[in-house]
Amino acid sequence: MKRREFNGKTLRIGIDLGGTKILGALVDDDGHAVATRQLPTFAKKEHPEKEILQTISTIVQDLIIRAEKEDRTPIEIGIASAGIIDPRTRTIRYAQSLSVKDFSIGEHVEKALQMPVRLCNDTDAAAMAEWQKKSRKRDRFMYVSVGTGIGAGIVMEEKIMQGAGELGHMTVNPKGQICSCGNYGCLKHYASGPAMEEKVRTKGGKYKKMAMPEIVELAEKGDVWCQNVLKEGARYLGLALVNSIHLLALKEIVIGGGVLQKGDYFFSQVEAYVKRFTMSYMAEGITMKPARFEAELGAVGAACSIR
Ligand SMILES: [Zn+2]
Repeated sequence: MKRREFNGKTLRIGIDLGGTKILGALVDDDGHAVATRQLPTFAKKEHPEKEILQTISTIVQDLIIRAEKEDRTPIEIGIASAGIIDPRTRTIRYAQSLSVKDFSIGEHVEKALQMPVRLCNDTDAAAMAEWQKKSRKRDRFMYVSVGTGIGAGIVMEEKIMQGAGELGHMTVNPKGQICSCGNYGCLKHYASGPAMEEKVRTKGGKYKKMAMPEIVELAEKGDVWCQNVLKEGARYLGLALVNSIHLLALKEIVIGGGVLQKGDYFFSQVEAYVKRFTMSYMAEGITMKPARFEAELGAVGAACSIR
């Protein structure tokens, strides 16, 4: 655990519940993770709900001990989870990566740990964490995650728009292929990591088994084929962002997720598209930034979304 000074009066615990690891953080009033604790999600997968609850309990108890060393007591727990979430009932309705369905995690954790618990979607949590950063605390903010899928979290008037931000299912090509959601030509089929990987691999040869990190690295080094595929994906994402800006008059967009982790080529292409095609009076006040990668982003956001 790293040591840092606690700021403000209250401490919250944020939990980022993912398919491979569960990361907990003690978060102060300024939105800083002052201590973290991480464990793998599963030891064995026979009873995923039970294992998830046990792991969260261990993490929370460790963080409480850490807080008590400073004579502090955490007051609430925020959990950010992958999958389809119902924040009202604090239930994970379905999460493939966690092998759970209709799991009322909020109620269970609250009962086990005797602390109030909130549940939110992981993209919303990342959006809250990015927005919370002092330099970025601007209204009409959207965080976009580009990875295995594409999702967005939107902050309007200091609140996350829960249930909004299905950017991956925005139609960007009405004549495109059918999607699992029933629509045609959804963004995720053009600009997500797997979609761009598939496109790169169609060229065969050395590209046949290429994965996203290598594709991004090659594009940075000037590989024209990888650049072209990323450019095309960036154009589709740019189109979805321009539509979002025109609809919501967004002031700031931060783009994160696995596809951006290895370099800025994709981001710079998206930014160029957005600047070129946003109506000029709306484009003037917009800031776009790539996300900074912090392991505790989801956990911090989960804690911040409690307020
Ligand atoms: Zn779709």
